[in-house]
Amino acid sequence: MSSSLRCIANHPTITLVESYHTLKEIKQIHTQVLVNGLLNHPLFLGKFIASIALSHPHNITYSTQILNQSQNPNLFTLNTMIRAYSKTPTPHLGFQFYNQILRSNLSPDNYTFTFLIRTCAHLSSLDSGPAVHGTTLKRGFDSDPHVQSGLIHLYSELGSFHSSRSLFLEIRCPDLVTQTAMVSACAGSGHIEFARKLFDEMPHRDPIAWNAMIAGYSQCGQSREALNLFNLMQFEGTKVNEVTMVSVVSACAHLGALDQGRWVHVYIEKNKLPLTVTLGTALIDMYSKCGNMTRAMEVFLRMREKNVYTWSSLMGGLAMNGAGERCLDLFSLMKQEGILPNEVTFVSVLRGCSVAGLVEKGREHFNSMTRVYNLKPWPEHYGCMVDLYGRAGRLDDAINFINDMPIKPHVGAWGALLNACRIHKNIELGEFALGKIVELEVTNDGAYVLLSNIYADSRNWDGVSNVRKLMKVGGVRKEPGCSVIEVGGEVHEFFVGDKSHPRYGEIELKLGEISRKLRLAGYVANTNQVLFDIEEEEKEDALCRHSEKLAIAFGFISLGEGVPIRIVKNLRICRDCHDGTKMVSKVFNREIIVRDRNRFHHFKDGECSCMDFW
Ligand code: ZN
Ligand code: ZN
Repeated sequence: MSSSLRCIANHPTITLVESYHTLKEIKQIHTQVLVNGLLNHPLFLGKFIASIALSHPHNITYSTQILNQSQNPNLFTLNTMIRAYSKTPTPHLGFQFYNQILRSNLSPDNYTFTFLIRTCAHLSSLDSGPAVHGTTLKRGFDSDPHVQSGLIHLYSELGSFHSSRSLFLEIRCPDLVTQTAMVSACAGSGHIEFARKLFDEMPHRDPIAWNAMIAGYSQCGQSREALNLFNLMQFEGTKVNEVTMVSVVSACAHLGALDQGRWVHVYIEKNKLPLTVTLGTALIDMYSKCGNMTRAMEVFLRMREKNVYTWSSLMGGLAMNGAGERCLDLFSLMKQEGILPNEVTFVSVLRGCSVAGLVEKGREHFNSMTRVYNLKPWPEHYGCMVDLYGRAGRLDDAINFINDMPIKPHVGAWGALLNACRIHKNIELGEFALGKIVELEVTNDGAYVLLSNIYADSRNWDGVSNVRKLMKVGGVRKEPGCSVIEVGGEVHEFFVGDKSHPRYGEIELKLGEISRKLRLAGYVANTNQVLFDIEEEEKEDALCRHSEKLAIAFGFISLGEGVPIRIVKNLRICRDCHDGTKMVSKVFNREIIVRDRNRFHHFKDGECSCMDFW
């Protein structure tokens, strides 16, 4: 660095701008700069513009004005403007500075293209992206590692994983930056196995690559892999940060792994990682999805900064755990605090109304979305409304609501109606809803199973076997039920009729004991959904208890006395398992918490928190 440049970089005015924040303060400095005639000093101008545009992005328009007053800005200054705009919601405005570079007869450099490529990635534009790529090739910057990694990221943002991959494969010796970009591109677009292969081949891995890999596993639902990798990351001594922990916490939430989640929370506190809004919100979501609302509330109260997602997350958790009224109280409080609700908030609010059976209130809130908050309801909100009417037994209102929807009714809306038909045993409407679902999504196995349950509940075996035939003809396969339970920080997985667990012998004995004790207590299994004319293969399926029963039995033999048994199931819990679990909670005096596909069931003293509505 030349002495004059060093002098400019440390110029007291530059230091002043960086420490000032308001536009008024910056304007005062600007006046001084004008008085001292510093604006036409190209090196000073570059630093001055960079300190405003990059440290105060909200003042970017003002930096453009300053630039317009100066003569002959240099390449660094114009590149800075492209870079600064690439981070704003209007990245395309950066292109004007590229044109200015060309007009001024300056030669764009590798930084120019790196920033332009970032602009295109942010725009996700299928036109400008490849065009900038073409210019990069023409100008010979395509072998610059930052340009290359930018292009890999760009094509992955444009949804063209194959372009990213072929770009990467053309590079002879990819460096750390490019390798990391490729791992992020693969992991972010679900090509997780290819990402892992590259990741394993990297001679050195920086935290960005680790974070991309862990986030990739977490986002595509491979939560156990995410946690394994996190353990490996610590083992290798790589420094973890907030980004890592958000993915790790989400993985625990997905698994419903409370012990691991709690351990991760302690780890965050021990390592003094800042409880940012994103991380705090992720923790609230995790505790909610593990059915521990006390902890979720504790995190919420401890957070210094909260945003609309933080509030919505806690509200959603309360609704999912059956505390509809508390969810709505929190909504009032949030509005009192001056926080404006968004679409995500209303999903939580409507779910809260639904579980609390507050139809009129739900309708008011739904209407207020457009009337008061100018929000356009998502398909999900319409689904919530159908659920709200349906649960309350107002099936006519539910179907009228669907017919009046301004958007084409989607699977979610019909599915909510079908579930209401199951709760209220309405075969005719259920058949109609299934027809609509199948029109939209031929292979929706959950819908077929729901209708089959409706038939079985009313002992209509012809109906049941018809559904089975339809499924066979349509090539629809029922997703196998799977329940997971966490014991001592390890997640155990059980499928329906699964005998593969190393302690299966003990599980079998415990199952026998449970059914004996239940029979003694006068419990008669609800065999409606089991005893009908079914095919051999499925009979075994039905008679070998459902996966949650296996997981509960395993909980009894492996957890300490009185420790609540927590299960996460991928499908909706069936009536037999639900009734049975209520009895188990009473006869064995044990709290059992089941998170099924839709909601939580807290079983205690023979009752369930869902009040038998699910
Ligand atoms: Zn079951
Ligand atoms: Zn329940």
